[in-house]
Amino acid sequence: MKIFNTLTRHKDEFIPINEGKVGIYVCGPTVYDYIHIGNARPMIVFDTLRRYLEYRGYDVNYVSNFTDVDDKIIKKANEEGVPASVISERFIAECKKDMEGLNVREATTHPKATEEIDDMIKMIETLISKDYAYEVDGTVYFKTRKFKDYGKLSKKNIDDLRSGFRDLKVSGEEEKEDTLDFVLWKPKKEGEPFWESPWGEGRPGWHLECSVMSKKYIGDVIDIHAGGEDLIFPHHENEIAQSEAANDAEFARYWMHNGFLKINNEKMSKSLGNFFTVREIGEKYDLQVIRFFMLSAHYRSPLNFSDDLVESAKNALERIRTATSRLEEIIEKTQNENITDEEKERLSDIDTFIKKYDDAMDDDLNTADAISVIFELVKYSNTNVNETSSKEFATKILDTIVTLCDVLGIKAKVEAELLDEEIEKLIEERQAARKNKDFARADEIRNSLLEQGIILEDTREGVRWKRA
Ligand code: AMP
Ligand code: ZN
Repeated sequence: MKIFNTLTRHKDEFIPINEGKVGIYVCGPTVYDYIHIGNARPMIVFDTLRRYLEYRGYDVNYVSNFTDVDDKIIKKANEEGVPASVISERFIAECKKDMEGLNVREATTHPKATEEIDDMIKMIETLISKDYAYEVDGTVYFKTRKFKDYGKLSKKNIDDLRSGFRDLKVSGEEEKEDTLDFVLWKPKKEGEPFWESPWGEGRPGWHLECSVMSKKYIGDVIDIHAGGEDLIFPHHENEIAQSEAANDAEFARYWMHNGFLKINNEKMSKSLGNFFTVREIGEKYDLQVIRFFMLSAHYRSPLNFSDDLVESAKNALERIRTATSRLEEIIEKTQNENITDEEKERLSDIDTFIKKYDDAMDDDLNTADAISVIFELVKYSNTNVNETSSKEFATKILDTIVTLCDVLGIKAKVEAELLDEEIEKLIEERQAARKNKDFARADEIRNSLLEQGIILEDTREGVRWKRA
């Protein structure tokens, strides 16, 4: 497989450190609110990378963190008058629900920053002992200039950076030796969560988290490090500096960055009123459609989100599902069990489709081309399989479509729809649970219905429901 490596700016042949195994680290969200539709892009794209590598036989160790201590979390906690952990735990749980809806598998490990503080302190101590870091009044800084390769990922020149930064000393950081130095540990402020450290009570800097968690759960050297393109500088550049200075080893062999999602060709922002959470979008569309839409473009291209484009993704997915339903029907009805000689010859056509699909995915995860191959196969199925086909041949085509879609996290088979009376029964059960103050069960029912595309509305006249 070839991967476009941000480090080399080339499509490089992917060779794992240990044969048959891949360690992937993906920077995860800061959990202070529901995730937005842009955050869903790296989740979907790199979950697809993981699925594809597994399909090709690799054993994948997939690590993605939750940043659960951060200014935005603390601000929200103070507004609500609750500890920061209440906010972060709430939105980790909500994020996991959205991931499930998007069919993004749980990571092998989802480390949380607040649970890894000891190792962060250890890494800072190592950096201080190697003279890559220094403390001033409870703040520890990294000596950026001392790290000779600084700028190798973002292709920034340290002297250009320095002149750009000259007047930009952040308040409270006036004591830095160099404007380029960044924070590894900061002292606590009133009302903030804190941990004991050799430099006083405080908390770690954001960049340090990923260096420490990837080391612990993958090792000093990671095969693939990924995230959105906004993270290249300074986040990933700083991760490289810290890790390589501390570990004396290359930090990550391949760097993958997804392009940004825009809404109606504009940057998504709250002030423009075009900011959508995955939860909101999920009320309008089946999240499988959103996943399909995201994978219809190459992950490095910018992607525009609009109702029209999502609508056409919905129709495209529908075409695949119509084809699989038709195949299921044929398999059930056909009188011919075993594959005929003519069909046997056609099996090589299917292998050709699979090869074409693999080639597309091998070419820097070209999911857009891979989806085109699935459509070719759907077309082939529609013209070459009918009631006279054998069960074996039709099953082979159906299984191939399902497998190729599954690698993309797309469910090609239509799941049996809930009947109206089943929905009514679940709603009654939810009402009873609420009456008994069993809100956990009530939420569970609501969410499970939502996942199946049933939206509940609590009105004065009682509960109404509709299909998404
Ligand atoms: P954050 O919580 O802001 O650190 O973002 C979590 C992940 O989502 C990072 O990998 C970001 O690069 C990515 N991300 C944020 N906004 C967008 C967007 N509009 N399009 C694509 N990726 C995004
Ligand atoms: Zn990170």
